[in-house]
Amino acid sequence: MFTKKTIRDVDVRSKKVLLRVDFNVPLKDGKVSDDTRIRASLPTIRYLIDHQAALIVCSHLGRPKGKVVPEMSLRPAADRLGELIGLHVTFVPDTIGPVVQAAVEGLRPGGILVLENTRFSVQETDNDPAFAADLASLADLYVNDAFGSAHRAHASTEGVAHLIPGVAGLLMESEITYLGKALQDPEHPFVAILGGAKISDKIGVVESLLRTTDMLLIGGGMANTFLAARGLDMGDSLVEADAVATAADILKASKDKIVLPHDAVVAQAVEAGAPTRIVSVESVHAGWRILDIGPATVELFSQSLKGAKLVVWNGPMGVFELAPFDVGTSAIARAVAESGATTIVGGGDSIAALKHAGVADKISHISTGGGASLEFLEGKTLPGVAALQDNAL
Ligand code: ADP
Ligand code: MG
Repeated sequence: MFTKKTIRDVDVRSKKVLLRVDFNVPLKDGKVSDDTRIRASLPTIRYLIDHQAALIVCSHLGRPKGKVVPEMSLRPAADRLGELIGLHVTFVPDTIGPVVQAAVEGLRPGGILVLENTRFSVQETDNDPAFAADLASLADLYVNDAFGSAHRAHASTEGVAHLIPGVAGLLMESEITYLGKALQDPEHPFVAILGGAKISDKIGVVESLLRTTDMLLIGGGMANTFLAARGLDMGDSLVEADAVATAADILKASKDKIVLPHDAVVAQAVEAGAPTRIVSVESVHAGWRILDIGPATVELFSQSLKGAKLVVWNGPMGVFELAPFDVGTSAIARAVAESGATTIVGGGDSIAALKHAGVADKISHISTGGGASLEFLEGKTLPGVAALQDNAL
């Protein structure tokens, strides 16, 4: 299934290894406030250290747009990595250049350096060959474990792999293996659940999943545009007028695979504690907006998951950030977790919803890459993966 070489296929002992990770973590008061992405890279880092590689770690963080923005320094991420792995981690306050070269020269097998934010240089996102060459000159081998950035052809995610041998890390391998199942050889019944605010972000995914799923449950704001395409009045709900025609085409082509909500929780304001009503999707009136799926839909979707062998979920069923509009999303999170199927969940808000419902540890695979997982599920080639060495079988 996974056709690229991984760190297990090469000899890393005493090699200088440039490891691209996704340490694009949220910071608060100069500290990492959610270290999920750092933890996700630990298996690869531990493997490389245990096998006596000299490790040079790089990543982007945020969108500094080619300028040095001190609040987006990777130093807090380097500190957190050191705490998590229980080893000394040296932070180098530059990404390329003499300071980095000197630090790399002094790096011994089993040692770890973390370089400064790759996006402090505009050459990173430009995939500038000279910048890629400077990065490549630091190491004998390149390892890409940054699944969350694999849909971008940047210098540290793609360019560098053309200059020194590039292989995949363990997180990259596991992400592609799980998501690849959904795309290429899913176990059936395969049920996907899509939600979130906008369908325009996810039309490609809907079309791609329609080819492989047995059933596609659609909730959240996305569902409103589909319901509008069926001719229903959505009142003041979020509807993407530009996407209604496309939604109608998709419904026509979907051969009844798409299941839409039957009822909804509506309110007159998006506010905690706003008075709510449960209504049929056929009775959403002006002044009211859909903010969650209703209890009959929770029941319908939960029943649809029973007996599934593979479940993919992306996108909350409602405005789950605000009680009581989290009820539908939390119920679906539990139904996914208890489905007994292989379960794959992606998307920043969906993962937050899993944690909110307390079921994150019951999911087979939580994808660390929002945009990357969507592009992969659309069937697009991820440049950061394509540039890695093929594994001759
Ligand atoms: P993910 O990050 O999991 O990919 P998205 O970013 O696509 O998910 O969507 C999450 C957002 O969708 C949340 O902010 C949520 O409030 C919003 N949302 C879900 N349902 C609705 C709705 N009915 N009306 C407005 N916004 C909604
Ligand atoms: Mg989101």
